[in-house]
Amino acid sequence: MQGEYEVVIGLEVHVQLSTASKIFCASSAAYGADPNNNIDPLTFGLPGSLPVLNKQVVESAIMMGLALHCQIRRFNRFARKHYFYPDLPKGYQISQFDEPICEHGNVEIESGDSTRTIGITRIHMEEDAGKNIHDMRTSASLVDLNRAGVPLLEIVSEPDIRSPAEASSYLKKIRQLARYLGVSDGNMEEGSLRCDANVSLRPRGELKFGTRTEIKNINSFKFVERALEYEIARQHATLKKGEPVIQETRLFDSNTGTTHSMRSKEESADYRYFPDPDLPPLVVEESWIQEVGVRMPRLPDDYKKELIDKHGLSEYDAGVLTSERSWVDYFDSTLEICGDAKLACNWITSELFGLLKKEGKEIEESPVKPEDLGTLISLIKKKTVSGKMAKDVFEEMFASGNKPEAIIKDKGLEQITDEDAIRKIVEQAFNDNEAQATQFIEGKDKLHGFFVGQVMKLSKGAANPEITNKLIIAERDKRK
Ligand code: ADP
Ligand code: MG
Repeated sequence: MQGEYEVVIGLEVHVQLSTASKIFCASSAAYGADPNNNIDPLTFGLPGSLPVLNKQVVESAIMMGLALHCQIRRFNRFARKHYFYPDLPKGYQISQFDEPICEHGNVEIESGDSTRTIGITRIHMEEDAGKNIHDMRTSASLVDLNRAGVPLLEIVSEPDIRSPAEASSYLKKIRQLARYLGVSDGNMEEGSLRCDANVSLRPRGELKFGTRTEIKNINSFKFVERALEYEIARQHATLKKGEPVIQETRLFDSNTGTTHSMRSKEESADYRYFPDPDLPPLVVEESWIQEVGVRMPRLPDDYKKELIDKHGLSEYDAGVLTSERSWVDYFDSTLEICGDAKLACNWITSELFGLLKKEGKEIEESPVKPEDLGTLISLIKKKTVSGKMAKDVFEEMFASGNKPEAIIKDKGLEQITDEDAIRKIVEQAFNDNEAQATQFIEGKDKLHGFFVGQVMKLSKGAANPEITNKLIIAERDKRK
């Protein structure tokens, strides 16, 4: 349908930082406390209370800025953004206005089978507002200020995004980076990651942007796509009728999958921004930026490239392993012990993920430590245990948390690779099954499988399959 129109999207993403305390006071920033437990005079804007900037917020912003290839501003100022709402007792939000900490960045996102670069306009630090709760029973509106003052980074993209799928891919990328860096848990259900989506249409070939609408407070990847799809169709129909799109703020209703007008778009002049006189300018020294840079973990794209180029993993496998830092960390520790990237990847993404999923556990809670999985893989490579039996060993490791060597020994699962030992078992299989042995010797090749089965039964599955195969043939030929 959008043949004649091009879709233009820009996202404003709010990332809630997982600091211990709030951005300008010592109250806890933790999620989920009883209402109005994490508060103090500043949260209420009581006279005489003064803000003190949380250093970790600045470091989180610098990290995010470096990860998104931004320039970091050396001279920063906080600004007051005024609006009147019960969840904001001070009457203003402390934010950054024309001097944000990060600017002029970019990020690579996946789009279909290729990648695209999306410009990052800015990242600024600000405080979150509280929460209004509209109580159905008493029909009262209640205010919970626990969230007021919790630190946020607002990451604003250039209008470079061209489809709802790209918007979702961009949002995933921001979440992945925030989680890698450890600056946020990116938990969308708890509102740690929310976005406002701006969207407009323009005739293909037109350079000027069309009038945009802004859809507020979207809190899932699915919803960002659905809200945008609806809004694009709505704008398209409006333009087709020859009517103008009105610049406004709209709300997405996830129950109906539609958006509706919330208010006309406010202009920045409406907010009466001015520098906050209670906070001194923040000077970010070059040496501080460098020091934070050194502490940054490796980023997923670099990791992915290394997994493909150095360890020979497929694009797909490398993508799966690097989607979470905890996964690639686990992989790294496993690889260090066993030295086989492909096997490590297979065991993690099939056996381990399978059991974790079944038990509803995260990888951090895995009863099998990466070192122990590494050891198990080494034992398979050394043929101490067969690949098939290793699965049982792994299940036992997962259930008990015991070491693989101990389990293999206890259960007598050690593979028999000694030829003399296996030959004795093969001989016994032939002697025990005279009729089949005769037919086999006379040329009924199909019985080969039967003797493999017998040997496995006698050895309780421990005989090495390749040696067993070889010795069954040898025994047949010897008896001819
Ligand atoms: P505001 O803070 O008033 O919402 P900004 O200038 O910060 O406005 O822009 C917000 C977002 O809107 C940015 O992500 C930007 O890329 C996007 N945007 C701006 N113009 C358009 C447009 N015509 N169509 C789609 N997105 C747009
Ligand atoms: Mg906006």
